[in-house]
Amino acid sequence: MIFVTEDLGEKPQEEMVEDKRSPQLKHRIKQTPMKAVVDKTADKAAERGLRLVLVSSYRNSKTCPVHGEEMSFPLGSKTGLCPRGHWVHRDVAAVLNIMRRAAERLEPRYAEAVKRALSAVDVKALGEWSRSALEAERVSQTKRPAVLARASPMTPVHEGGGRGCR
Ligand SMILES: [Zn+2]
Repeated sequence: MIFVTEDLGEKPQEEMVEDKRSPQLKHRIKQTPMKAVVDKTADKAAERGLRLVLVSSYRNSKTCPVHGEEMSFPLGSKTGLCPRGHWVHRDVAAVLNIMRRAAERLEPRYAEAVKRALSAVDVKALGEWSRSALEAERVSQTKRPAVLARASPMTPVHEGGGRGCR
């Protein structure tokens, strides 16, 4: 088994909040220890003799995984428009581009398998996966109020009894 993730650098949260407008969302992202999660995963993988491949995080979610062209985001940050005229959800693009980058780092027999799988991906598949990603987001958003009620990131420190929210 091989794990693949983006090489996040030292301050991934700072980059992730750059294009986020909601202060609540910015706060939640900054409170999430992304680097610690990746480091922990690397430790656990090493303990078990599994491999963790880190790849560049450059433009994975902004590049069309079929055509390799830079996408624009005229309707918001979720879904990108390829210059060739089709839409791709940014998470779908990211996963496929990360796989392609990982393939460059693997031994030939693994690399070939990954490349063969990626070459089967077409615009139609991208459309179907993008719709599924949007649907999954809708489902998780309808469940979110319960999570917010338990631990609201916006509870002010002076009123919330010092939740440690800084
Ligand atoms: Zn495209």
